[in-house]
Amino acid sequence: MPGRALIAGAGIGGLTLALALARRGIPSQIVERAAALEETGAGVQLSPNASRILDALGLGRALDAVATRPEAVTIADGVSARALKTLQLGAEAERRWGAPYRVVHRSDLQAILLEATRGETGVELTLGAEILSARETTFGAAVEIAKDGAAEMIEGGWLAGADGLRSVVRRAVKLPATVQATGLRAWRTVLPAGALPEAFGIRRVSVWLGPGAHLVVYPVRAGREANLVLIGDDRIQTPADLVVGWAAPARDAVAACSSWTPWPLYDRAPDARMQHGRIALIGDAAHATLPSLAQGAAFAIEDAATLARLVAEGGPDAFAAYERARLMRCAKLQMRSRRQIRIDHLSGLAARARNLALAATPASVLLGGLDWIYGWRDD
Ligand SMILES: Cc1cc2nc3c(=O)[nH]c(=O)nc-3n(C[C@H](O)[C@H](O)[C@H](O)COP(=O)(O)OP(=O)(O)OC[C@H]3O[C@@H](n4cnc5c(N)ncnc54)[C@H](O)[C@@H]3O)c2cc1C
Repeated sequence: MPGRALIAGAGIGGLTLALALARRGIPSQIVERAAALEETGAGVQLSPNASRILDALGLGRALDAVATRPEAVTIADGVSARALKTLQLGAEAERRWGAPYRVVHRSDLQAILLEATRGETGVELTLGAEILSARETTFGAAVEIAKDGAAEMIEGGWLAGADGLRSVVRRAVKLPATVQATGLRAWRTVLPAGALPEAFGIRRVSVWLGPGAHLVVYPVRAGREANLVLIGDDRIQTPADLVVGWAAPARDAVAACSSWTPWPLYDRAPDARMQHGRIALIGDAAHATLPSLAQGAAFAIEDAATLARLVAEGGPDAFAAYERARLMRCAKLQMRSRRQIRIDHLSGLAARARNLALAATPASVLLGGLDWIYGWRDD
């Protein structure tokens, strides 16, 4: 295969792919719409399946300088504030899944990936270039871009579409560009760790489940700040309105945050393909997923690792092999993420039944239910 890669998009998926390819001696050009890479948003959980890959790329030390390895995840009832289950992470995550569970600010993760790719001579980064279309060519693939007001064509040996939820490259893989509105909105913010009500505890991941909404809190910036994500019905206009009737710590945490960023949530039903000809999709472009299992970025990282390996191994069928390796796993994630959010947002009797079941299930069983996600290895 195939020569220099064109990578559409410098998100977590695109940057990881460029780095993974470079480490295997394959050059790439990343084409990114943004004029500067400043990841907004807030935190991201990097579960062991993602950490294992980033560590293998040599980023573990840089990540540990800015990330936290949470001791545990505590699931609580948002209305009563009662803890339903605590699952140990920390050393237990490393023992069970062979890599750390980390939580980090997105801008820190992006800076680390960017610095690592800039340290590779084989990676070229073209910023401020909006991809208008993509297609196969006789010898590879090409994207038409708009840059500085002019249209231009960039060619490569093949193309990876890492251009996110509203991917343009999807059309060249003969997949619809449409996304599905979920009726949900995420509200995201960060706050100084000291302003977080004690009930949350800054060294863990807290997941509070309430009727029609859930709140996730975890440390970022090496524990100096707390990341809050509140997900609920998009017809409810403010974060405070989503937690009316919740226990005081949840209401206080929400009230302590002055600036929230609203984030409408979309996903897709699983597709039947992830590649066509000399073009493959990774990350949200391939499998837009609800964030209820906190795996979208992790799966983009997994996609990148598998695609880089298969391309480097050079089989005639690298893209088809990539699709075989990834399709069912990604489809399972998309479906499980939808199911999880329905469970998380139950109300009334159904929520009580969920809480009883959760409290009665041994932690070892719940951890075992995560093995398929966190224990994944690229081989
Ligand atoms: C509220 C919320 C919480 C989440 N929490 C987690 C979590 O804890 N853990 C986790 O693993 N995942 C999480 N996710 C999911 C995760 O954020 C995404 O799945 C991940 O960022 C996808 O990465 P990507 O590289 O595929 O796409 P993106 O990050 O969207 O990157 C795409 C890149 O392509 C560029 N681009 C797009 N179109 C064009 C174009 N036409 N031309 C040129 N460039 C283009 C964009 O500018 C962007 O830089 C969360 C998502 C949400 C909404």
